[in-house]
Amino acid sequence: MIPYGQQSIVDKDIDAVVEVLKSDFITQGPNVPAFESAVAEYCGARHSVAVNSATSALHLACKVLGVGPGDIVWTSPISFVASANCALYCGAAVDFVDIERDTGNMSVSALTEKLAEANEMRRLPKVIIPVHFSGQSCDMEGISSLAKEYGISVIEDASHAIGASYQNQKVGSCKFSDITVFSFHPVKIITTAEGGLATTNNADLASRLALLRSHGVTRDPDLMENDTEGAWYYEQIDLGFNYRMTDLQAALGRSQMDRLDELVSRRNELAKRYDQELAGFKTIQPLRIDDDCYSSFHLYVIRLSSDAKIGRTELFSALRDDGIGVNVHYKPIHTQPYYEKLGFKPQDFEHSVDFYSKVISIPLHPQLSDDQLSYIVACLKKYVD
Ligand SMILES: *Cc1c(COP(=O)(O)O)cnc(C)c1O
Repeated sequence: MIPYGQQSIVDKDIDAVVEVLKSDFITQGPNVPAFESAVAEYCGARHSVAVNSATSALHLACKVLGVGPGDIVWTSPISFVASANCALYCGAAVDFVDIERDTGNMSVSALTEKLAEANEMRRLPKVIIPVHFSGQSCDMEGISSLAKEYGISVIEDASHAIGASYQNQKVGSCKFSDITVFSFHPVKIITTAEGGLATTNNADLASRLALLRSHGVTRDPDLMENDTEGAWYYEQIDLGFNYRMTDLQAALGRSQMDRLDELVSRRNELAKRYDQELAGFKTIQPLRIDDDCYSSFHLYVIRLSSDAKIGRTELFSALRDDGIGVNVHYKPIHTQPYYEKLGFKPQDFEHSVDFYSKVISIPLHPQLSDDQLSYIVACLKKYVD
């Protein structure tokens, strides 16, 4: 089976991890801060805090932006469930903003309308979490200017999008947001096995993120409520978690960062070949990539027109039978049973439901060969015009 996504691990990555295993610190050593600096520098952000998953980073990001009971957080239905769950962890409520059909990203016009209504009802969200679907940035200028107008914070869920750019700035620069979150799960662009990271330009948010990552415990005398009682002394000044990244993971991450541009550029090369090959199909549409975006192409998503001679689900099965590890991203979060029990109805976000019924993610990862890509296109030709 040709997988839809796959990590790229080279000898240098393995050596970096083995070196940590032989060192004094397999966690809380020098690699975590070095990895944080590498990502912050790459993105052009002032601060970064590494954690054990993007899910943890989203949870902490909500926490440090003050999300709690009585608050609402808005995100996109076309995402992994973690984008919404982070608000529930904080005791807040979740609501969604529908997507733009051609990109799968949060629609700025839907957001504009929903904000005007929410403002009238005095039920504005505390935080908006746009998701850079498939690796292409949302219209962050539009989202950020609306958020500023209403006094709302913004967290970018850039789990798909490390290495991507928007308006010639790296995603993660936080030019248009308070915090950006990345995931380093093996199917994503670079990996630390499990892992995540938050970037921000706000020193206060960064220090709160770091505090909550490790139990709310500090060894910094400036943050303590009492005078230090000796060199052993630490204080718990807030209720935090153990969301720490290990040095083993950070060493892998540092090593992977050296190849980030190369990995993203190979993904773009393959995506361009898909674009060319698929241009000949009448009933397949790739996602639109906007001129001010450079996508990291975490996913290559195709949409099947309603007049295609095969349905999405039948095409999915046929391709799987041909040994192609296609996938579907995503069942809209508001249609998950857990969210339906909270009161959401499928028709609440119609574009998302329609998008879900038409999409298939076809394999895209750095190891995909040109021959494999040709085989995938040839199989598509058997079923679709
Ligand atoms: C993968 C993913 C997450 C969760 O990442 P983890 O590192 O596995 O916690 C969150 N949001 C989106 C959009 C993702 O794709």
